[in-house]
Amino acid sequence: MVAHRTPARFDRSTTGASAPRPHACVIGAGLGGLAAAMRLAAKGYRVTVVDRLGGPGGRGTSISRGGHRFDLGPTIVTVPQVFRDLWAACGMDFDRDVELVGLDPFYEIRWPDGSRFTVRGSPEAMREEVRRLSPGDLTGWERFRRDAEVRYRFGFEELGRRPMHRLRDLVRVLPRFALLRADRSIHALAAARVRDERLRMALSFHPLFIGGDPFHVTSMYALVNHLESAFGVHYAMGGVAALAQAMQDAGARLGVTFHYGAEVAEILVQGGRAAGLRLSDGRRIAADIVVSNADAGHTYDRLLPGTARRRWSRRRLGRLRWSMGLFVWYFGTRGTRGLWPDVGHHTILNGPRYRGLTRDIFIRGRLAGDMSLYVHRPSVTDPSCAPAGDDTFYALSPVPHLGHADPVDWSAEAEPYRRRVAEVLEASLLPGLRERIGESMVFTPETFRDRYLSPHGCGFSIEPRILQSAWFRPHNVSEELPGLFLVGAGTHPGAGLPGVVTSAEVLASLVPDAAAAPAQGALDMAAE
Ligand SMILES: Cc1cc2nc3c(=O)[nH]c(=O)nc-3n(C[C@H](O)[C@H](O)[C@H](O)COP(=O)(O)OP(=O)(O)OC[C@H]3O[C@@H](n4cnc5c(N)ncnc54)[C@H](O)[C@@H]3O)c2cc1C
Repeated sequence: MVAHRTPARFDRSTTGASAPRPHACVIGAGLGGLAAAMRLAAKGYRVTVVDRLGGPGGRGTSISRGGHRFDLGPTIVTVPQVFRDLWAACGMDFDRDVELVGLDPFYEIRWPDGSRFTVRGSPEAMREEVRRLSPGDLTGWERFRRDAEVRYRFGFEELGRRPMHRLRDLVRVLPRFALLRADRSIHALAAARVRDERLRMALSFHPLFIGGDPFHVTSMYALVNHLESAFGVHYAMGGVAALAQAMQDAGARLGVTFHYGAEVAEILVQGGRAAGLRLSDGRRIAADIVVSNADAGHTYDRLLPGTARRRWSRRRLGRLRWSMGLFVWYFGTRGTRGLWPDVGHHTILNGPRYRGLTRDIFIRGRLAGDMSLYVHRPSVTDPSCAPAGDDTFYALSPVPHLGHADPVDWSAEAEPYRRRVAEVLEASLLPGLRERIGESMVFTPETFRDRYLSPHGCGFSIEPRILQSAWFRPHNVSEELPGLFLVGAGTHPGAGLPGVVTSAEVLASLVPDAAAAPAQGALDMAAE
C-alpha cells in the first residue's frame, strides 16, 4: 500500500542509468483519475495522485456503517471492455483483479398504474416484454434498437474514444451528426418510434444516469440502450469501491504514488506551462504535466487563480447548463432478506409525471412535490454488503442543482424530503419499510458540493447537451494552459464509468510516451 506518503518534492526517479522520468501529477482519484494514473504509468511516467478524500474512487467510494456497506454512487457497470482494455494497456488481466457479475434481469421499471417493464439481455425476452406492455409498438421498438446500434458505433466507438479538441475533429463528424439528427432529443427519437408513454420513458431515461434531461439531450444517447443489450449490466462484487481499489492497486504495482486527505489549492505555472501543484497546506509538488480529474468547472474556476482564461472564464462557466443535483438516501433494513421478493437489484420507480418532473428539475429549478426514484438493493447480488438477514439500499431522487435562482436549503429540507421518499417507497415498493429501517444517512447537493467540490453540487458535471459535448466540452488537452490535461465527467466524452475511463484512453493518445517527453528538469519548487 502506497497511500498517505508525504509528497517527494525533488524526487527524480529514473528509468535508466541517468534519464529522469517525467513526472505526472493527477488531481483526483475518481475513476477517471485512477485510469489516467494507470495509463500514464504504463507509458513510463512517474505518477503522483492527490485527492482530498481518504481513499480511491471519488463518487465511486463506499461508507461502512453498522455492518452495511453503502455504495455511494455508481452501481451499474456497463461496457466492461473499457476496463479490460485499460488493464491490458498496463500488461495486466482485469478479470484476475475484479469480479464482475452479470445481472439478469438488468433492472425493472414500475409506474404508478401498477404496470412494470423488465429489461433483460435477451432480445426475445425483450420482444415479449414490449408485446406485453404495448403490442402495437413492437415494430417501432425494433427500429429504435437499430437506431441505438448505429448511434453506438458512431457515438461511442468513433467519437467517444477519440480526441475531440481540434475544430477539424468536430467538422469531420458534423455530417454524421446531421444525418443521425443529433439535434433531436432522445425523447423525441423514442416518441417518433413508439406510441406508449411508458415505453417512451423506458427508451429515453438513460441520460438521467449521466446527468442529462431526456427532453433536451441529444438522441445520440440512444447508444446506451445498445451498450446495455450488447455488453450487459454488471455489478462489481464489493461495489464500485472494490473496482476503484483494484485500480489503485494496479497503479501501485506500476509505481504510482497516492496521497489522500490532501487538497490541491492551485495548479502552479512556470514559463507559461503547468509545472506542479500547491496543496492547501502549502506543500508544493513539481510536475512535468498535470492531469485534472477534479470537475472541469472547479479546475478552471478555482485552480488557476493567476492565469487569464480565454475560453473557460467564470462568466462562460456560469452560462453553461449543469447536470441535476441528487438526493440520495442510504439505508439498511432489519430482517428483510426474504421480504419484498419481487424487488431486485435495480428498480426505477416512476412518479406520476415524466416531462413535468424533468422540467421542474432542470429548467425551473424547483423541488417538486412528486418524485421518481432509482432504488438500489445490492444485497440481493452481494450479501456481504449487509449483516446476515438484513438488506442494504439506496434510493436516489434527481433534484435541482444549487445554481438555480432560489436554491433549496437542504439543511432544512433534507429530513422532510427523506420522510417523503420513505413514504413513497413504503406505499409502492417496500410495504412496512419504516418500522424496519436501521442505518440511515442522506447525501444532498450540498454534500456533493462540499465532498467532491462539484460546481452547484451537481451529480455529473456539465450537462451532456449537444452544444456541451465533444469539441464543445472542456477539452482533454487544456485550452488554457500547456501541460495541463483533463479527464473525468466534465471533459470529453463525459460522465458515467465508461465515459470517464475512456477519457483516460483519450488522454493516453494525446500524451507522448515518457521516453519521448523527457522531464523538464528546470522545475525548482520549495515548500512555502
Ligand atoms: C449517485 C450516483 C450514481 C451513479 N450511478 C452510475 C452508474 O450506475 N453507472 C455509471 O456508469 N455511472 C454512474 N454515475 C456516474 C459516475 O459515478 C461518475 O460520472 C464518475 O464516477 C465520475 O468520475 P470522475 O473520474 O469524473 O471523478 P469523481 O468521482 O468526480 O472524482 C473526482 C475526485 O477529485 C477529487 N477532487 C476534486 N477537487 C479536488 C482538489 N482540489 N484537490 C484534491 N482532490 C480533488 C474529489 O475528491 C474526487 O475524489 C453515478 C453517479 C452518482 C453520483
